[in-house]
Amino acid sequence: MKAIVRRLIASVLYYSGALWLLAARNLRGRVVVLMYHRVLPKNLDSHSARAIVVSVETFSRQMRFLRRFFNPLTLEQFDDVVNGRRPLPPKACLVTFDDGWFDNHAYALPLLREHGVPAVIFAATGYVGTEHCFWQERLTRALFLLRKQTKAAAFLREIGGEHLAQVDEASARDATRSLVTQIKSRPAAEIESLTARAFELLRECSLPTDHGDDRFLTWQEAEELAHSDMVRIGSHAHSHTPLPRLTQLDLQKELTESRNELMRRLRSPVASFAYPNGDYSPESVSAVRQAGYSLAFTTDSGYARPGADPLLIPRVNIHEGGTATSAEFLCRILRLL
Ligand SMILES: [Zn+2]
Repeated sequence: MKAIVRRLIASVLYYSGALWLLAARNLRGRVVVLMYHRVLPKNLDSHSARAIVVSVETFSRQMRFLRRFFNPLTLEQFDDVVNGRRPLPPKACLVTFDDGWFDNHAYALPLLREHGVPAVIFAATGYVGTEHCFWQERLTRALFLLRKQTKAAAFLREIGGEHLAQVDEASARDATRSLVTQIKSRPAAEIESLTARAFELLRECSLPTDHGDDRFLTWQEAEELAHSDMVRIGSHAHSHTPLPRLTQLDLQKELTESRNELMRRLRSPVASFAYPNGDYSPESVSAVRQAGYSLAFTTDSGYARPGADPLLIPRVNIHEGGTATSAEFLCRILRLL
């Protein structure tokens, strides 16, 4: 119900012209940096959180919208604009992706090309070209598969997931996703041991332990993206650990090695960075600067401005929820509703 009301309000604001007046006022002197993660067809076998996924149809509609009503910048143009070397065009935007998922190449790239919208992809080098996957997707998938297994009943009870056995097939993915969201606040070591136990149970129950469509780019795909003229690759560190949790030594290692690996494998310069999980501290920001990055993006909600700190660039998160129509998409860009 809430979603219907929101869609209705968005379309009244949009078609009355009110949103466009607001856009002209609120976006003046600013660049909208959009943050995406994954672009997926609806039938894929993914257990990613809804907050990081847009459908192929929605993404296509959004890129057409940006091309028509905004000024999509390349990373180089963005760099010039925020550093005052180039005048800021009206309704400027920059499209970014975090993590380095395989679908950025399979589904996003053809649409970026079709609509002529450049983008930046921040890749976590510990995942690109490997079989590794984030613990969130691994644990969500494991719980989804284990939910009706008698052998897993005690484990599910222990982590507050006893209700999963009763949930119908259609709601099971969302139910396991929200359980994992709750688990997210537990200490890292505890999460690691929970995930390991869930995978032991999968093996005991002879259930698959692969990651389905929750895969990262191969290096060849990353290379094709980097040489596509549409995409620049930046670093999202190596292990995707939030920077403030790392020791000073590991922090330097993560920042330098991921940058060097990207430059070596993709044979192109890397000067941009996105903070894993959006987390930063004064120490991590200065380490990012020392490692040679000149632009760094957070997950704080807001707009980029010429003259603001280029190592703390806020963004606007885009996922399927509340962005499926042009009116809702513009509302999200304006950080309304
Ligand atoms: Zn990330």
